[in-house]
Amino acid sequence: MPFAPTNRRHFLAATGMAVALPALAGCGGPAIDVRKQRAFRITKTEAQWRRQLTRQEYYVLRDAGTERAYTSPLNDEKRTGTFVCAGCGNELYSSAHKYDSGTGWPSFWQAIEEGAVGTSVDYKIGYARTEVHCADCGGHLGHIFGDGPRPTGKRHCINGVALDFVLA
Ligand code: FE
Repeated sequence: MPFAPTNRRHFLAATGMAVALPALAGCGGPAIDVRKQRAFRITKTEAQWRRQLTRQEYYVLRDAGTERAYTSPLNDEKRTGTFVCAGCGNELYSSAHKYDSGTGWPSFWQAIEEGAVGTSVDYKIGYARTEVHCADCGGHLGHIFGDGPRPTGKRHCINGVALDFVLA
């Protein structure tokens, strides 16, 4: 089946699969590797990414790893500003949409704008989760769950190491 991210997202929304996910599940686990399956606007070789990124950034962004909860200083970042991709600088999330989910990972109820992030379906830990990545470079960010606050009801559970904070 050809990959159709938009249809897939609508499918998830229509079936309520995201809502059925366990509450406050972590960001964790390796994702389906969208980075190897799709073309992104910003494309680099693995060697180039390894040179550019820290070990931990590479582990999360390029290898879909997960930082330990409560380890990112951005979990507690409450100032006004923009969270950009640590891999390519793409603006991903705004402080206006950040909230304290109590999970230990920076959490947002929506991306800064439609199209800033992309999603894929990740079955790696036995049930469907919505993986979220930078739309420009494909870097893995975290997962989206259906237990977020109003108005979207979404929780973008994001690894802080995948983000850089730009103070407004
Ligand atoms: Fe990026």
